[in-house]
Amino acid sequence: QGKRLARGKTSHFSETLGQAARKRMRMLSDLRAAFSSERLSLVFQPLVELSTGRVTGTEALLRWEIEPGHWVPPDQFIPLAEQSGLIVPLGEWVLRTACRELRRLSERGHAGLRMAINVSHAQFREPGFVPMLKHILTETQVTASQIELELTESLAIEHVEGLNAKLAEIRGLGIRVAVDDFGTGYSSLSVLRQLQIDRLKIDRSFISEPAATPTQGGILPLIVALGQQCNLTLIAEGIETEAQRQHLLSLGCQEGQGFLFARPMPIERLEDWLAAAVSNQDQPV
Ligand code: C2E
Ligand code: MG
Ligand code: MG
Ligand code: MG
Repeated sequence: QGKRLARGKTSHFSETLGQAARKRMRMLSDLRAAFSSERLSLVFQPLVELSTGRVTGTEALLRWEIEPGHWVPPDQFIPLAEQSGLIVPLGEWVLRTACRELRRLSERGHAGLRMAINVSHAQFREPGFVPMLKHILTETQVTASQIELELTESLAIEHVEGLNAKLAEIRGLGIRVAVDDFGTGYSSLSVLRQLQIDRLKIDRSFISEPAATPTQGGILPLIVALGQQCNLTLIAEGIETEAQRQHLLSLGCQEGQGFLFARPMPIERLEDWLAAAVSNQDQPV
């Protein structure tokens, strides 16, 4: 009897596992189909200088509209793309599309903006990554110094020497490299010590941490101080309130992005938004 019960449990267990696996397989094949039929798109979120509100650039973020009006969040489909290897062609498409849009923006009077582009480790590790980057730069004729690659910090746990060689090659082209979601991994300090990077993007979770008290200063000031010690430009993500902007400014953080300034938007809306931002700035204060 015990045996029968155990068998019943096992089959129930593997059925749930099977269901989860089937769901992922299905999502992956939907994602592949969406990619090949151009149903993936990019939206752009402005990056601003915290002291002036001046727009310095935008971050490209991937969007998947699985059915009209229904969006799958990137946190759900990027991991799937990474596990399956789809991230390699998909990431290349993101890079090319973001560079093309940057080129178009500068042709339409928005010159000098930066374009921040997220790059997965699986993509970065590919031997063909740097040649592909060079090819896209030539093809789209964007200025390398306008491009900024965002890598997450878990990258650093692996072979630092190989990584730095690649980072040096990329930075040698004039491209800047930022560490994304800084402070969320367990390798934060070694990233700063070992990796050759230009910028730190402070994770949203530290921006919204409760206001500091005299005894409990919070982690944010420590991260900002660390970045400054290492001569890195600091960018805060997820700024939602004016109080957060002021706090970051007082700590010495230069740049940021967040719903306080703008949500990610399609390129056509970004153009209107930029035009409005420029004309606001032209107004005497
Ligand atoms: P990330 O690179 O850290 O991007 C910032 C995320 O914070 C975006 O989420 C953005 O919409 C969100 N955000 C910005 N400001 C605020 C705010 O004020 N409040 C709140 N609550 N959220 C804010 P999103 O677009 O859902 O992207 C999630 C993550 O997916 C990204 O995090 C990035 O790691 C990944 N991702 C997105 N696009 C790509 C891509 O093209 N390639 C790769 N490899 N990863 C991508
Ligand atoms: Mg990012
Ligand atoms: Mg980030
Ligand atoms: Mg983040």
